[in-house]
Amino acid sequence: MALNDKVALVTGAASGIGEQCARKLASDGATVVIADLNLANAQNVAEDIVANDGKAVAVAMDVTSEEAVNAGVADTVNQLGGIDVLVSNAGIQIVNRIEDYAFSDWKKMLAIHLDGAFLTTKAVIKHMYASNKGGAVIYMGSVHSHEASQLKSAYVTAKHGLLGLARVVAKEGGPRGVRANVVCPGFVRTPLVNKQIPEQAKALGISEQQVVKDVMLKETVDGEFTSLADVANTVAFLAGFESNALTGQSIVVSHGWFMQ
Ligand code: NAD
Repeated sequence: MALNDKVALVTGAASGIGEQCARKLASDGATVVIADLNLANAQNVAEDIVANDGKAVAVAMDVTSEEAVNAGVADTVNQLGGIDVLVSNAGIQIVNRIEDYAFSDWKKMLAIHLDGAFLTTKAVIKHMYASNKGGAVIYMGSVHSHEASQLKSAYVTAKHGLLGLARVVAKEGGPRGVRANVVCPGFVRTPLVNKQIPEQAKALGISEQQVVKDVMLKETVDGEFTSLADVANTVAFLAGFESNALTGQSIVVSHGWFMQ
């Protein structure tokens, strides 16, 4: 139980990667805060963790709203006494060629991925400093923090941006024991990816099978999707790694799609 006595707030934890990260952190002993736009799903996940002897609460949070983020963080600190781990994970995908990419979609993407990371970090880091215990900030990046793909101008821009944010947080937070790192998964079969497969097939004029084989998994060493467990285990490793030796880094979990 490496994370006993730790409180971990995970955004976008009502589904997919965030949910699996929360379940893994809870199984390692942390009290997890399931923060999501979708409160009903967040409550279901929290109740299931509790039913399996874990510690979890659900919090409604739209990460693009400073008010909502501050309220959710304040509520968590009031209930649980502090926050030791932030997993900034909430995200969506909108694919389109740049000439057709609606400005409103671009702004929505940057708001969820970058404003969300900034606002949650800003709200949480104060409590990490005040506790004198420091903490771990983990951003959910992507192979697209390092590589580009067609149709993903906003996503690639946002995921690259997280590397910069993590490095600044690592420098500012280091002297006070706060580490910041980015986990960069390859494609993982979640609702976000399942929705994208037919959209990419249409935009690229190829079949869904070709999207999977020739677009998503083409550059991997074995043609395999990255699993939810692969990503959650990496997040848990970073959450439990308590020295500044590992900060300001990105860890790519992608079946060799991107090698750094
Ligand atoms: P998902 O769609 O399964 O889950 C995303 C969750 O985020 C949902 O519960 C949704 O309600 C929540 N959410 C959306 N907007 C929100 C907002 N404004 N405020 C709070 N919560 C919000 O997606 P996923 O595949 O698990 O993706 C999670 C993260 O992992 C994203 O940042 C994504 O970019 C990243 N990622 C995914 C993959 C992949 O292949 N699935 C690969 C690399 C990185």
